[in-house]
Amino acid sequence: MGATVTAYIAIMSASGVFNLYLAIFSYVRRHYYKRIAPIFILYTGTVTVYCFAAAFGLLATSLEQIKIWTVIQYIGIAFAPLLGLLFILRYFGMEKAFKRTSLLLTIPAVTVAMVATNDFHHLHYRSIDTHPVLGAPYIELVIGPWYIIHGMFIFACMFTALCLTLLQLRSAAPIYRKQIIILAFGQCIPILLAFFYLTGLSPAGIDSVPLYLWLTSILYFWAINSSSMFTLVPVAKDVIFQRIADAVIVLDDSQRLIEFNQAAKHLFTDIHKNMYGQDFYSFWKGLTDTDFSYDLSSAPLTVEMTQTLHQKNYVFHLRISNLSISQKNSGSLLIFTDITEMKKLQNQLEYFAYYDELTNIFNRRAFFKYTKSAFMEEKKQFTVILFDIDYFKYVNDTYGHYSGDLVLSELSRRIQEITPAQCIFARYGGEEFILALPGRSVEEGLQLAEMIRKKIEVHLFSIEDGSITITISMGVAGTNLPAGEFTLEELLNRADKALYIAKESGRNQVQVDKDVF
Ligand code: GH3
Ligand code: MG
Ligand code: MG
Repeated sequence: MGATVTAYIAIMSASGVFNLYLAIFSYVRRHYYKRIAPIFILYTGTVTVYCFAAAFGLLATSLEQIKIWTVIQYIGIAFAPLLGLLFILRYFGMEKAFKRTSLLLTIPAVTVAMVATNDFHHLHYRSIDTHPVLGAPYIELVIGPWYIIHGMFIFACMFTALCLTLLQLRSAAPIYRKQIIILAFGQCIPILLAFFYLTGLSPAGIDSVPLYLWLTSILYFWAINSSSMFTLVPVAKDVIFQRIADAVIVLDDSQRLIEFNQAAKHLFTDIHKNMYGQDFYSFWKGLTDTDFSYDLSSAPLTVEMTQTLHQKNYVFHLRISNLSISQKNSGSLLIFTDITEMKKLQNQLEYFAYYDELTNIFNRRAFFKYTKSAFMEEKKQFTVILFDIDYFKYVNDTYGHYSGDLVLSELSRRIQEITPAQCIFARYGGEEFILALPGRSVEEGLQLAEMIRKKIEVHLFSIEDGSITITISMGVAGTNLPAGEFTLEELLNRADKALYIAKESGRNQVQVDKDVF
């Protein structure tokens, strides 16, 4: 065995040892970086197999031995580049691409099978023999079609991994740059060497890649130790930022755009990286066609804001915070949480809690809520009108319940049309309604009630087929606040009594409770 071969064996074994050390090192510390450790162990493991098999292959003295070591070597070289790419994908948090790319593992599996069975089909090597002049372990080979596929595939894997790394370098924060540069260098070495080997520039059929892989492993080791490659997984943070469901916009201390995430892009479709450096207030105007109505310098600030974006009305919970806790003028972080749907639901719930479903006017609960506060605040007078449809049972019995419902809705609409806006109007019970008149005297209440009664008496109510007339009986009660010291409930009782008298006295009339306190 020549001195050169011995040197090759030594160096390749060193590469193997370095990679084995990396594999064991990451296996021992796998609990600290669970997400990326398994794929890195597999990657360094296959590189180890590749290096050692290449070294042992150089000890071979016959073609048979060379072939056996070649098959073992291919377990490494067929899988390692793809595993390297998968490591990069996972390292930079590209999980979707990671899953899809994993499917490609079938290709190296086929390559290993092809090499192992080459004697039967000669698709990987057309011919493989010991070198006619130098003899084993030097070989002379003629490549076959699958060799070309394999070559292109491993190049594609290595090249893609390198490109992804360099792309990340562009957008990564400065503290991650060092480890990304080291990663990129580590990837360049096998690419260059494999290129020399595949183009025939390396010495007589000896694959020189394992000769230099120790350099790559040292670079990895350096990245892991000096710049905490595994503990400070850079883009994971970027991925988190990008994947936050809320739209996030980051501004510098002069309120100029420095960053935004995917959700912001989704929401403000026209936001673009070429807007970096632009003043927030002016690019906001460009994005939304409206002025931004909050003062960024008043951060921290939390507001609920409505905003129309691409013809849709949004409600946002907007939080504006300073980037630095101690410094006031340190740049701002704007987080827009889309609460449109939640707000709709909340409005719906509120609506059902306070509005009557059939007539769409206030229900009893809303009546008390609003009337009580109006009653407490009122300083002058307060009057209520309680009214009930006459012989409504007859309407239901004669024309059906649905027609009865139609009458109730139309009556509510009609009353809303003819009563002043300040009145609080509600459905008090089945076919009993109530009007509260803050600031109105009992005389004014009486007048309004008469007016309503007369209008209803002549109104034609549409029912299922045709139309009918109805009449209502009304009871009015009022108080001169604050002289009278009694409650809203007492006032309502007195209106109820008056209504009772109206019913007793023949219906279709207004009765007033005479005791004005
Ligand atoms: P009175 O002149 O004494 O008020 O006679 P009335 O027939 O109106 O008697 P009462 O007030 O006791 O009857 C109310 C009726 O209103 C009974 C009930 O079936 C009907 N009612 C209550 N709520 C609704 C409703 O939501 N839809 C319909 N169609 N009918 C209702
Ligand atoms: Mg009735
Ligand atoms: Mg009734």
